[in-house]
Amino acid sequence: MNTIHKFGGRMPYYCIPRNLQDVVELVQRAENENKRIKAVGSGHSFSDVALPEVYLVDLKKLNALLPLDNNSIKPEYRQLNLVHVQGGMTVQKFNRKMDRLDLCVKNMGGIDNQTLAGAISTGTHGTGLGLPSFPGMVRSILLVTHGGKCLRVEPTNGITSPDQYHDTNVELVQNDQVFYSAVLSLGCFGIIYSFILEMEDMYFLEETKKCYDWSYVKPRLKDRSLFYEEDGSTPIRGVMVQVNPYKNKDGDHTCIVVRHRLLNTRPHRTLGDATRNWISSILGRLPLSYLVLRRIARRKPEKLPGMIDSSLRSLQDKRYENKGYRVLYQGAEYVKIRAYDSEFAFDMTDNNNDFITALEEMFDKAVENKEKGLFQTAPMGLRFVDRSPAYLSPEYGRQVAYIDTPFITGTPKLDEILYGYQEIMLKHNGIPHWGKINTILDGKPEVIEKYYPELQVWQKYFREFNPKKTFSNKFSDRLNLGFVGMVV
Ligand SMILES: Cc1cc2nc3c(=O)[nH]c(=O)nc-3n(C[C@H](O)[C@H](O)[C@H](O)COP(=O)(O)OP(=O)(O)OC[C@H]3O[C@@H](n4cnc5c(N)ncnc54)[C@H](O)[C@@H]3O)c2cc1C
Repeated sequence: MNTIHKFGGRMPYYCIPRNLQDVVELVQRAENENKRIKAVGSGHSFSDVALPEVYLVDLKKLNALLPLDNNSIKPEYRQLNLVHVQGGMTVQKFNRKMDRLDLCVKNMGGIDNQTLAGAISTGTHGTGLGLPSFPGMVRSILLVTHGGKCLRVEPTNGITSPDQYHDTNVELVQNDQVFYSAVLSLGCFGIIYSFILEMEDMYFLEETKKCYDWSYVKPRLKDRSLFYEEDGSTPIRGVMVQVNPYKNKDGDHTCIVVRHRLLNTRPHRTLGDATRNWISSILGRLPLSYLVLRRIARRKPEKLPGMIDSSLRSLQDKRYENKGYRVLYQGAEYVKIRAYDSEFAFDMTDNNNDFITALEEMFDKAVENKEKGLFQTAPMGLRFVDRSPAYLSPEYGRQVAYIDTPFITGTPKLDEILYGYQEIMLKHNGIPHWGKINTILDGKPEVIEKYYPELQVWQKYFREFNPKKTFSNKFSDRLNLGFVGMVV
């Protein structure tokens, strides 16, 4: 039975459905009342993408693994590691459940507090030029949409055999256009009840952190050799770079290159291997370290460039081996949860190095800001993601480099600093992450049209599934999603 709390005011209804029928009834109720309804995951998006207006639907009670009807799966897909899971499960809980089944996510973001539906709906990514972001693990979606209709949405050659599919309450839709629109739909197509995801067998990773100067890293990013072992041909599973935008005493920029390598066998771990940089992990979990950093940002900001440098250097030569999802989790949770950032994706196709040009211009901007008393409170980050077939993914049809500009919340004039970085990234053909600060997109429909060649298809299904704008919110309104390029 639906639990609906009535609050009144600007967001009157907080709803906690307990089953699929509850979700159906909520959607029907909102549509009948001509009110808006929004599913919210953990609320971890920095942008207003998850901001509800009238009905807020919290799927926290829809957080279980569901049975998979193996008979309805086509024989050629039965050997895949398919799991059926409700959308409200957090990535953290999901990872633990998968661990018990000896399975693992292919990739994930740096934290695990998100829900699966939230992470998938905004295209949450980790790092790895050959690895997908979250939508890349999805094989089937159970969506409650316009009229409370339930759809099982899959690609044209989806995993379900139509002949063996007998669920009369949920219509099977196998169509590439619908699937690649719905899999990253920013909550605008309805409420996602569950997913069938494809998992990896449990794997083990080694993480190393090496300190270099930017003058060493830059040419290796340019010719892409940073993504390979020294033999020049064996790809490294995941690479990320953190860089201090301020120069060090040698006039260069200190970088940490983090590399994730697949281990062939379960590691024989020493305590050192098994515990990731434990001092920073423990400090990262304490509110005190966040408060200290914020105090320094406010009282003695001139210390920040040196502090970023020494914190990067303190990470070097750290080796960590563990199960895949444990290594992919980047820890230092307490500080991260108090972070705030913009992140843009840059096309790397045909040796395009716009991301390097943009990043170096952002170094200059950081110095210019410093002279005005505006300081960076964390290093800038580079992560790399494989191309995606999801129409609204920033990596649609292109391998990308993401530039991340994290700050701790409470950094003075944070929005002004971030806007300046957004301007630079946009100028160099960066594509904003939907879940991060993307205020630069306001009033710029041409940006969305430029980077999403299948936008018209996505918009067609937006209008079909969301004809009364029931699943829209301020975010989709301000970007005119569903109607970009149309006179309405
Ligand atoms: C500290 C921190 C670190 C982060 N690190 C990364 C990172 O490493 N990589 C990265 O890419 N991103 C990262 N992010 C961004 C974050 O992963 C995304 O914004 C993600 O969407 C948040 O998941 P959520 O469950 O909180 O979803 P929410 O923010 O609550 O919702 C996101 C969207 O999903 C929709 N949605 C949620 N549930 C449903 C549902 N059941 N049906 C339909 N729509 C639904 C919402 O309507 C909304 O449009 C980070 C965020 C934080 C706060």
